[in-house]
Amino acid sequence: MAEKPKVVILGAGFGGLWAARKLANRPVDILLVDKNNYHTFLPLLYQVAAAELEPERIAQPVRYLIRDQANLNFRMGAVTAITPAEKTIAVDGEPIGYDYLIVALGSTTAFFGVPGAEEHCFTLKSIDEGIEMRNHILRTIEAASNEPDPAKQAEMLTFVIVGGGATGVEYAGALAELIYQPLEKDYPRVNLKKLARVILIEAGSQLLSGIDEGNYTAERLKKIGVDVRLNTKVASVEADRVNLAEGEPVLADTVLWAAGIQGQPVVKSAGVELTRGSQFEVLETLQSEDYPEMFVVGDLIRFMQDGEPLINTAQVAMQSGEVAAENIMALINQKPLENFRYYDKGMMATIGRNAAVANIGGRHFTGFFAWLIWLFIHLFFLIGFRNRIGVLTNWAWNYLFYERVVRLVMPLDSSKRESERATEKKSARQPA
Ligand SMILES: Cc1cc2nc3c(=O)[nH]c(=O)nc-3n(C[C@H](O)[C@H](O)[C@H](O)COP(=O)(O)OP(=O)(O)OC[C@H]3O[C@@H](n4cnc5c(N)ncnc54)[C@H](O)[C@@H]3O)c2cc1C
Repeated sequence: MAEKPKVVILGAGFGGLWAARKLANRPVDILLVDKNNYHTFLPLLYQVAAAELEPERIAQPVRYLIRDQANLNFRMGAVTAITPAEKTIAVDGEPIGYDYLIVALGSTTAFFGVPGAEEHCFTLKSIDEGIEMRNHILRTIEAASNEPDPAKQAEMLTFVIVGGGATGVEYAGALAELIYQPLEKDYPRVNLKKLARVILIEAGSQLLSGIDEGNYTAERLKKIGVDVRLNTKVASVEADRVNLAEGEPVLADTVLWAAGIQGQPVVKSAGVELTRGSQFEVLETLQSEDYPEMFVVGDLIRFMQDGEPLINTAQVAMQSGEVAAENIMALINQKPLENFRYYDKGMMATIGRNAAVANIGGRHFTGFFAWLIWLFIHLFFLIGFRNRIGVLTNWAWNYLFYERVVRLVMPLDSSKRESERATEKKSARQPA
Protein backbone atom coordinates (compact mmCIF):
# COMPACT_ATOMS: atom_id res chain seq x y z
CA MET A 1 0.00 0.00 0.00
CA ALA A 2 1.33 3.47 -0.93
CA GLU A 3 2.43 5.61 1.99
CA LYS A 4 0.08 8.42 2.93
CA PRO A 5 1.36 12.00 2.62
CA LYS A 6 2.89 13.18 5.88
CA VAL A 7 1.54 16.42 7.34
CA VAL A 8 3.46 17.97 10.22
CA ILE A 9 1.64 20.59 12.29
CA LEU A 10 3.76 22.78 14.56
CA GLY A 11 1.83 24.03 17.61
CA ALA A 12 -1.30 22.65 19.31
CA GLY A 13 -2.86 26.04 19.96
CA PHE A 14 -5.96 27.34 18.23
CA GLY A 15 -4.51 27.25 14.70
CA GLY A 16 -2.73 23.88 14.96
CA LEU A 17 -5.45 22.02 16.80
CA TRP A 18 -8.22 23.20 14.48
CA ALA A 19 -6.11 22.24 11.45
CA ALA A 20 -5.45 18.80 12.94
CA ARG A 21 -9.16 18.25 13.60
CA LYS A 22 -10.03 19.24 10.05
CA LEU A 23 -7.69 16.50 8.78
CA ALA A 24 -9.29 13.78 10.92
CA ASN A 25 -10.22 10.68 8.89
CA ARG A 26 -8.50 12.05 5.77
CA PRO A 27 -5.90 9.94 3.94
CA VAL A 28 -2.87 11.67 5.52
CA ASP A 29 -0.52 10.85 8.41
CA ILE A 30 -0.32 13.78 10.82
CA LEU A 31 2.32 14.60 13.37
CA LEU A 32 1.29 17.34 15.79
CA VAL A 33 4.16 18.91 17.77
CA ASP A 34 3.97 21.13 20.84
CA LYS A 35 6.43 21.94 23.62
CA ASN A 36 3.60 21.48 26.14
CA ASN A 37 1.45 18.39 26.46
CA TYR A 38 -1.63 20.60 26.68
CA HIS A 39 -3.69 23.07 24.68
CA THR A 40 -4.23 26.41 26.41
CA PHE A 41 -7.40 28.49 26.25
CA LEU A 42 -5.56 31.82 26.31
CA PRO A 43 -8.63 34.12 26.52
CA LEU A 44 -9.08 33.10 30.17
CA LEU A 45 -5.38 33.24 31.10
CA TYR A 46 -5.77 36.62 32.77
CA GLN A 47 -8.13 34.96 35.27
CA VAL A 48 -5.35 32.53 36.27
CA ALA A 49 -3.09 35.54 36.85
CA ALA A 50 -5.84 37.21 38.91
CA ALA A 51 -6.37 34.18 41.19
CA GLU A 52 -9.84 33.54 39.73
CA LEU A 53 -9.22 30.20 38.03
CA GLU A 54 -6.92 27.25 38.62
CA PRO A 55 -4.51 26.81 35.67
CA GLU A 56 -5.90 23.33 34.97
CA ARG A 57 -9.28 24.86 34.18
CA ILE A 58 -8.02 26.53 31.02
CA ALA A 59 -5.94 23.66 29.63
CA GLN A 60 -6.55 20.20 28.21
CA PRO A 61 -4.02 17.44 27.46
CA VAL A 62 -3.42 17.22 23.71
CA ARG A 63 -3.42 13.43 23.77
CA TYR A 64 -6.89 13.47 25.33
CA LEU A 65 -8.13 15.83 22.62
CA ILE A 66 -6.79 13.71 19.75
CA ARG A 67 -7.56 10.32 21.27
CA ASP A 68 -10.12 9.40 18.62
CA GLN A 69 -8.08 10.60 15.65
CA ALA A 70 -6.41 7.47 14.26
CA ASN A 71 -4.33 9.30 11.62
CA LEU A 72 -2.65 11.59 14.15
CA ASN A 73 0.36 11.21 16.39
CA PHE A 74 1.54 13.76 18.96
CA ARG A 75 5.10 14.64 19.88
CA MET A 76 5.85 16.70 22.94
CA GLY A 77 9.00 18.73 22.30
CA ALA A 78 10.34 22.14 21.34
CA VAL A 79 10.56 22.99 17.65
CA THR A 80 14.16 24.10 17.29
CA ALA A 81 14.37 24.61 13.50
CA ILE A 82 12.18 24.93 10.42
CA THR A 83 14.01 24.15 7.18
CA PRO A 84 11.51 24.31 4.29
CA ALA A 85 14.32 24.15 1.71
CA GLU A 86 14.92 20.57 2.91
CA LYS A 87 11.29 19.85 3.90
CA THR A 88 12.34 19.17 7.47
CA ILE A 89 11.77 20.59 10.89
CA ALA A 90 13.65 19.75 14.08
CA VAL A 91 12.17 18.80 17.44
CA ASP A 92 14.65 19.18 20.30
CA GLY A 93 17.35 19.11 17.62
CA GLU A 94 16.16 15.92 15.91
CA PRO A 95 15.27 16.41 12.21
CA ILE A 96 11.85 15.22 11.01
CA GLY A 97 10.77 15.24 7.35
CA TYR A 98 7.38 16.22 5.98
CA ASP A 99 5.41 16.44 2.74
CA TYR A 100 3.24 19.31 3.97
CA LEU A 101 3.77 21.63 6.89
CA ILE A 102 1.47 23.89 8.91
CA VAL A 103 3.33 26.37 11.10
CA ALA A 104 1.06 27.39 14.01
CA LEU A 105 3.55 28.26 16.75
CA GLY A 106 1.79 31.44 17.82
CA SER A 107 3.38 34.56 19.19
CA THR A 108 5.41 35.96 22.01
CA THR A 109 5.45 39.43 23.59
CA ALA A 110 6.87 42.37 21.60
CA PHE A 111 8.61 45.06 23.64
CA PHE A 112 9.19 47.43 20.68
CA GLY A 113 12.76 48.07 21.81
CA VAL A 114 11.68 49.93 24.98
CA PRO A 115 14.79 49.85 27.20
CA GLY A 116 14.46 47.62 30.26
CA ALA A 117 10.97 46.35 29.32
CA GLU A 118 11.96 42.79 28.51
CA GLU A 119 14.24 42.60 31.55
CA HIS A 120 11.88 44.00 34.18
CA CYS A 121 8.31 43.36 33.02
CA PHE A 122 6.06 40.40 33.55
CA THR A 123 4.27 39.04 30.49
CA LEU A 124 1.08 37.04 30.05
CA LYS A 125 1.35 34.61 27.15
CA SER A 126 1.40 31.17 28.76
CA ILE A 127 0.09 29.27 31.77
CA ASP A 128 3.56 29.43 33.38
CA GLU A 129 3.50 33.21 33.11
CA GLY A 130 -0.06 33.35 34.47
CA ILE A 131 0.98 31.38 37.56
CA GLU A 132 4.11 33.48 37.96
CA MET A 133 2.07 36.68 37.85
CA ARG A 134 -0.49 35.39 40.36
CA ASN A 135 2.21 34.24 42.76
CA HIS A 136 4.04 37.53 42.44
CA ILE A 137 0.92 39.61 43.21
CA LEU A 138 0.06 37.51 46.27
CA ARG A 139 3.65 37.45 47.53
CA THR A 140 4.13 41.18 46.99
CA ILE A 141 1.01 42.10 48.95
CA GLU A 142 2.07 39.73 51.72
CA ALA A 143 5.51 41.39 51.84
CA ALA A 144 4.01 44.90 51.65
CA SER A 145 1.81 44.14 54.65
CA ASN A 146 5.02 43.83 56.73
CA GLU A 147 6.87 46.79 55.21
CA PRO A 148 7.47 49.54 57.80
CA ASP A 149 8.66 52.22 55.35
CA PRO A 150 5.56 53.90 53.78
CA ALA A 151 7.47 54.96 50.63
CA LYS A 152 8.66 51.41 49.98
CA GLN A 153 5.24 50.05 50.78
CA ALA A 154 3.65 52.41 48.24
CA GLU A 155 6.11 51.26 45.57
CA MET A 156 5.35 47.62 46.36
CA LEU A 157 1.63 48.27 46.16
CA THR A 158 1.74 49.98 42.77
CA PHE A 159 0.85 47.67 39.89
CA VAL A 160 1.38 49.00 36.38
CA ILE A 161 -0.09 47.40 33.28
CA VAL A 162 1.22 48.62 29.94
CA GLY A 163 -1.15 48.23 26.97
CA GLY A 164 -4.85 49.06 26.71
CA GLY A 165 -5.85 46.16 24.45
CA ALA A 166 -7.99 43.22 25.60
CA THR A 167 -5.32 41.59 27.82
CA GLY A 168 -4.38 44.86 29.56
CA VAL A 169 -7.98 45.96 30.12
CA GLU A 170 -9.24 42.57 31.29
CA TYR A 171 -6.32 42.10 33.66
CA ALA A 172 -6.52 45.64 35.04
CA GLY A 173 -10.20 45.10 35.91
CA ALA A 174 -9.62 41.66 37.41
CA LEU A 175 -6.58 42.80 39.41
CA ALA A 176 -8.35 45.85 40.84
CA GLU A 177 -11.25 43.66 41.92
CA LEU A 178 -8.88 41.10 43.47
CA ILE A 179 -7.03 43.75 45.47
CA TYR A 180 -9.93 45.97 46.49
CA GLN A 181 -12.34 43.16 47.40
CA PRO A 182 -11.03 39.79 48.72
CA LEU A 183 -7.47 40.92 49.50
CA GLU A 184 -8.79 44.06 51.22
CA LYS A 185 -10.68 41.70 53.54
CA ASP A 186 -7.60 39.47 54.01
CA TYR A 187 -5.38 42.39 55.09
CA PRO A 188 -7.55 44.50 57.42
CA ARG A 189 -4.46 46.28 58.85
CA VAL A 190 -3.12 47.51 55.52
CA ASN A 191 -5.99 49.49 53.98
CA LEU A 192 -5.37 48.32 50.43
CA LYS A 193 -8.27 50.43 49.16
CA LYS A 194 -6.31 53.54 50.06
CA LEU A 195 -2.73 52.41 49.46
CA ALA A 196 -2.75 50.01 46.49
CA ARG A 197 -2.82 51.43 42.97
CA VAL A 198 -3.53 49.71 39.66
CA ILE A 199 -2.39 51.89 36.77
CA LEU A 200 -3.22 51.12 33.14
CA ILE A 201 -0.99 52.89 30.63
CA GLU A 202 -1.96 53.20 26.95
CA ALA A 203 0.02 55.06 24.29
CA GLY A 204 -3.08 55.75 22.14
CA SER A 205 -6.19 57.74 22.92
CA GLN A 206 -8.54 54.75 23.16
CA LEU A 207 -8.80 51.57 25.21
CA LEU A 208 -9.87 48.36 23.45
CA SER A 209 -9.30 49.94 20.07
CA GLY A 210 -11.38 48.05 17.48
CA ILE A 211 -13.90 46.89 20.10
CA ASP A 212 -14.93 49.99 22.07
CA GLU A 213 -15.59 53.25 20.28
CA GLY A 214 -16.14 55.67 23.15
CA ASN A 215 -15.15 56.14 26.77
CA TYR A 216 -17.13 53.25 28.20
CA THR A 217 -14.12 51.04 29.00
CA ALA A 218 -12.04 53.82 30.55
CA GLU A 219 -14.97 55.09 32.64
CA ARG A 220 -15.83 51.61 33.83
CA LEU A 221 -12.22 50.88 34.86
CA LYS A 222 -12.00 54.18 36.72
CA LYS A 223 -15.16 53.28 38.59
CA ILE A 224 -13.54 50.12 39.99
CA GLY A 225 -10.43 52.00 41.04
CA VAL A 226 -8.05 51.70 38.05
CA ASP A 227 -5.95 54.78 37.27
CA VAL A 228 -6.28 54.96 33.45
CA ARG A 229 -3.64 56.96 31.62
CA LEU A 230 -4.29 57.43 27.91
CA ASN A 231 -1.87 59.08 25.44
CA THR A 232 0.97 58.03 27.73
CA LYS A 233 4.14 56.52 26.28
CA VAL A 234 6.55 54.38 28.27
CA ALA A 235 10.13 55.55 27.66
CA SER A 236 11.91 52.86 29.68
CA VAL A 237 11.43 50.46 32.56
CA GLU A 238 13.75 50.01 35.53
CA ALA A 239 13.59 47.53 38.41
CA ASP A 240 11.64 49.95 40.58
CA ARG A 241 10.00 52.39 38.13
CA VAL A 242 8.39 53.10 34.80
CA ASN A 243 9.82 56.17 33.08
CA LEU A 244 7.30 57.95 30.90
CA ALA A 245 8.04 59.95 27.75
CA GLU A 246 6.54 62.94 29.56
CA GLY A 247 6.03 63.63 33.25
CA GLU A 248 7.06 62.02 36.51
CA PRO A 249 8.16 58.37 36.57
CA VAL A 250 5.81 55.88 38.22
CA LEU A 251 7.52 54.14 41.13
CA ALA A 252 6.36 50.54 40.99
CA ASP A 253 7.74 47.11 41.72
CA THR A 254 5.36 45.34 39.36
CA VAL A 255 4.93 46.03 35.66
CA LEU A 256 2.99 43.79 33.30
CA TRP A 257 3.77 44.35 29.61
CA ALA A 258 0.65 43.61 27.56
CA ALA A 259 1.34 45.83 24.60
CA GLY A 260 2.15 43.79 21.53
CA ILE A 261 2.93 40.50 19.85
CA GLN A 262 5.63 39.11 17.59
CA GLY A 263 6.17 35.70 16.01
CA GLN A 264 7.97 32.97 17.96
CA PRO A 265 11.74 33.43 17.41
CA VAL A 266 12.23 29.93 15.95
CA VAL A 267 10.41 30.95 12.74
CA LYS A 268 13.45 32.98 11.76
CA SER A 269 15.19 29.68 11.00
CA ALA A 270 12.81 29.15 8.03
CA GLY A 271 15.00 31.49 5.99
CA VAL A 272 12.05 33.32 4.40
CA GLU A 273 11.36 37.02 4.58
CA LEU A 274 9.43 37.99 7.72
CA THR A 275 7.82 41.25 8.85
CA ARG A 276 9.45 43.38 11.55
CA GLY A 277 7.31 41.54 14.07
CA SER A 278 8.56 38.14 12.84
CA GLN A 279 5.29 37.27 11.12
CA PHE A 280 4.88 35.69 7.68
CA GLU A 281 3.26 37.53 4.79
CA VAL A 282 1.65 34.50 3.19
CA LEU A 283 -0.29 34.10 -0.06
CA GLU A 284 -4.08 34.31 0.18
CA THR A 285 -4.10 30.51 0.28
CA LEU A 286 -1.94 30.75 3.46
CA GLN A 287 1.04 29.20 1.62
CA SER A 288 4.53 30.55 1.80
CA GLU A 289 5.37 32.19 -1.52
CA ASP A 290 8.75 30.43 -1.60
CA TYR A 291 7.60 27.03 -0.37
CA PRO A 292 4.03 26.14 -1.46
CA GLU A 293 3.91 23.01 0.73
CA MET A 294 4.46 25.20 3.83
CA PHE A 295 1.32 26.88 5.28
CA VAL A 296 1.34 29.41 8.10
CA VAL A 297 -1.66 30.24 10.32
CA GLY A 298 -2.80 32.08 13.45
CA ASP A 299 -0.72 34.70 15.21
CA LEU A 300 2.18 34.03 12.86
CA ILE A 301 0.53 35.66 9.84
CA ARG A 302 0.21 39.29 8.94
CA PHE A 303 -2.78 38.99 6.65
CA MET A 304 -4.33 41.89 4.78
CA GLN A 305 -8.07 41.78 4.26
CA ASP A 306 -9.98 44.66 2.62
CA GLY A 307 -6.85 46.78 2.87
CA GLU A 308 -6.40 46.33 6.64
CA PRO A 309 -4.21 43.88 8.56
CA LEU A 310 -6.31 41.35 10.48
CA ILE A 311 -6.07 41.54 14.26
CA ASN A 312 -4.60 38.21 15.37
CA THR A 313 -7.24 36.50 17.47
CA ALA A 314 -8.28 32.98 18.37
CA GLN A 315 -10.98 33.10 15.67
CA VAL A 316 -8.44 34.08 13.02
CA ALA A 317 -6.23 31.19 14.15
CA MET A 318 -9.03 28.60 14.10
CA GLN A 319 -10.39 29.69 10.74
CA SER A 320 -6.95 29.94 9.10
CA GLY A 321 -5.99 26.53 10.54
CA GLU A 322 -9.03 24.96 8.93
CA VAL A 323 -8.42 26.61 5.56
CA ALA A 324 -4.76 25.50 5.57
CA ALA A 325 -5.86 21.92 6.27
CA GLU A 326 -8.40 21.99 3.43
CA ASN A 327 -5.81 23.48 1.09
CA ILE A 328 -3.36 20.67 1.87
CA MET A 329 -6.05 18.18 0.86
CA ALA A 330 -6.69 20.24 -2.29
CA LEU A 331 -2.97 20.14 -3.16
CA ILE A 332 -2.89 16.37 -2.61
CA ASN A 333 -5.99 15.89 -4.76
CA GLN A 334 -4.77 18.41 -7.35
CA LYS A 335 -7.85 20.58 -6.86
CA PRO A 336 -7.96 24.41 -6.81
CA LEU A 337 -6.99 26.00 -3.49
CA GLU A 338 -9.31 28.18 -1.44
CA ASN A 339 -8.37 31.76 -0.52
CA PHE A 340 -8.53 32.53 3.20
CA ARG A 341 -11.17 35.07 4.14
CA TYR A 342 -11.75 35.79 7.80
CA TYR A 343 -15.35 35.79 8.89
CA ASP A 344 -15.71 38.08 11.91
CA LYS A 345 -17.99 36.41 14.46
CA GLY A 346 -17.48 39.26 16.90
CA MET A 347 -14.98 40.77 19.31
CA MET A 348 -15.43 41.27 23.02
CA ALA A 349 -13.68 41.99 26.29
CA THR A 350 -14.79 42.03 29.90
CA ILE A 351 -14.14 44.89 32.32
CA GLY A 352 -14.59 43.41 35.78
CA ARG A 353 -17.87 42.06 37.11
CA ASN A 354 -21.09 42.93 35.30
CA ALA A 355 -19.41 44.86 32.49
CA ALA A 356 -18.08 44.06 29.03
CA VAL A 357 -17.88 45.48 25.54
CA ALA A 358 -18.90 43.39 22.54
CA ASN A 359 -19.14 43.97 18.80
CA ILE A 360 -21.23 41.25 17.25
CA GLY A 361 -22.72 41.21 13.75
CA GLY A 362 -22.09 44.93 13.35
CA ARG A 363 -23.88 45.72 16.65
CA HIS A 364 -22.19 47.26 19.66
CA PHE A 365 -23.11 46.15 23.18
CA THR A 366 -21.85 47.38 26.54
CA GLY A 367 -22.65 46.66 30.19
CA PHE A 368 -24.36 43.73 31.84
CA PHE A 369 -25.85 42.24 28.66
CA ALA A 370 -22.45 42.29 26.94
CA TRP A 371 -20.97 40.66 30.05
CA LEU A 372 -23.54 37.83 29.88
CA ILE A 373 -22.69 37.30 26.19
CA TRP A 374 -18.98 37.23 27.12
CA LEU A 375 -19.57 34.62 29.86
CA PHE A 376 -21.66 32.42 27.60
CA ILE A 377 -19.26 32.55 24.61
CA HIS A 378 -16.18 31.84 26.71
CA LEU A 379 -17.84 28.89 28.42
CA PHE A 380 -19.01 27.60 25.05
CA PHE A 381 -15.54 27.72 23.48
CA LEU A 382 -13.67 26.38 26.50
CA ILE A 383 -12.71 22.80 25.71
CA GLY A 384 -13.96 20.05 28.03
CA PHE A 385 -17.20 19.62 29.98
CA ARG A 386 -15.36 19.24 33.31
CA ASN A 387 -13.51 22.50 32.72
CA ARG A 388 -16.77 24.28 31.91
CA ILE A 389 -18.35 23.07 35.15
CA GLY A 390 -15.23 24.03 37.14
CA VAL A 391 -15.03 27.50 35.61
CA LEU A 392 -18.74 28.11 36.11
CA THR A 393 -18.47 27.05 39.78
CA ASN A 394 -15.51 29.37 40.37
CA TRP A 395 -17.26 32.27 38.63
CA ALA A 396 -20.45 31.74 40.64
CA TRP A 397 -18.51 31.57 43.93
CA ASN A 398 -16.49 34.70 43.11
CA TYR A 399 -19.60 36.53 41.98
CA LEU A 400 -21.78 35.67 44.95
CA PHE A 401 -19.23 36.10 47.71
CA TYR A 402 -16.81 38.68 46.24
CA GLU A 403 -14.07 36.11 46.71
CA ARG A 404 -11.23 34.63 44.67
CA VAL A 405 -10.81 30.92 45.12
CA VAL A 406 -7.16 30.44 44.08
CA ARG A 407 -5.24 32.66 46.49
CA LEU A 408 -2.40 30.19 47.02
CA VAL A 409 1.24 30.87 46.28
CA MET A 410 2.13 27.61 44.60
CA PRO A 411 4.01 25.74 43.27
CA LEU A 412 6.90 26.94 45.36
CA ASP A 413 9.60 26.51 42.70
CA SER A 414 8.08 29.45 40.83
CA SER A 415 9.66 31.45 43.62
CA LYS A 416 13.11 31.04 42.04
CA ARG A 417 12.66 33.80 39.47
CA GLU A 418 10.65 35.71 42.04
CA SER A 419 13.48 35.75 44.56
CA GLU A 420 15.91 36.83 41.84
CA ARG A 421 13.60 39.74 41.07
CA ALA A 422 13.27 40.56 44.78
CA THR A 423 17.06 40.71 45.16
CA GLU A 424 17.30 42.89 42.07
CA LYS A 425 14.68 45.28 43.39
CA LYS A 426 16.27 45.38 46.81
CA SER A 427 19.64 46.39 45.35
CA ALA A 428 17.92 48.99 43.12
CA ARG A 429 16.46 50.56 46.26
CA GLN A 430 19.81 50.78 48.10
CA PRO A 431 21.07 54.37 48.15
CA ALA A 432 24.11 54.79 45.86
C1 LIG B 1 -3.72 36.65 27.64
C2 LIG B 1 -4.34 36.50 26.29
C3 LIG B 1 -5.70 36.73 26.12
C4 LIG B 1 -6.30 36.59 24.87
N1 LIG B 1 -7.63 36.81 24.77
C5 LIG B 1 -8.24 36.59 23.57
C6 LIG B 1 -9.64 36.71 23.44
O1 LIG B 1 -10.35 37.04 24.40
N2 LIG B 1 -10.20 36.47 22.23
C7 LIG B 1 -9.44 36.12 21.14
O2 LIG B 1 -9.99 35.88 20.06
N3 LIG B 1 -8.11 36.01 21.23
C8 LIG B 1 -7.49 36.23 22.41
N4 LIG B 1 -6.13 36.11 22.53
C9 LIG B 1 -5.35 35.83 21.31
C10 LIG B 1 -5.42 34.37 20.93
O3 LIG B 1 -5.23 33.56 22.06
C11 LIG B 1 -4.37 34.08 19.87
O4 LIG B 1 -4.64 34.92 18.78
C12 LIG B 1 -4.40 32.63 19.46
O5 LIG B 1 -4.08 31.80 20.56
C13 LIG B 1 -3.42 32.36 18.33
O6 LIG B 1 -3.48 31.02 17.99
P1 LIG B 1 -2.17 30.28 17.46
O7 LIG B 1 -2.58 28.89 17.14
O8 LIG B 1 -1.53 31.09 16.39
O9 LIG B 1 -1.18 30.32 18.69
P2 LIG B 1 -1.36 29.68 20.14
O10 LIG B 1 -2.77 29.43 20.46
O11 LIG B 1 -0.58 30.56 21.04
O12 LIG B 1 -0.63 28.27 20.00
C14 LIG B 1 0.75 28.15 19.74
C15 LIG B 1 1.20 26.81 20.26
O13 LIG B 1 2.55 26.61 19.86
C16 LIG B 1 3.28 26.10 20.94
N5 LIG B 1 4.69 26.51 20.75
C17 LIG B 1 5.20 27.76 20.71
N6 LIG B 1 6.52 27.73 20.46
C18 LIG B 1 6.85 26.43 20.35
C19 LIG B 1 8.06 25.73 20.08
N7 LIG B 1 9.22 26.38 19.85
N8 LIG B 1 8.05 24.39 20.03
C20 LIG B 1 6.89 23.70 20.23
N9 LIG B 1 5.71 24.30 20.49
C21 LIG B 1 5.69 25.64 20.54
C22 LIG B 1 2.65 26.68 22.18
O14 LIG B 1 2.89 25.86 23.31
C23 LIG B 1 1.17 26.72 21.77
O15 LIG B 1 0.49 25.56 22.18
C24 LIG B 1 -5.51 36.24 23.76
C25 LIG B 1 -4.14 36.01 23.92
C26 LIG B 1 -3.56 36.12 25.18
C27 LIG B 1 -2.10 35.86 25.33
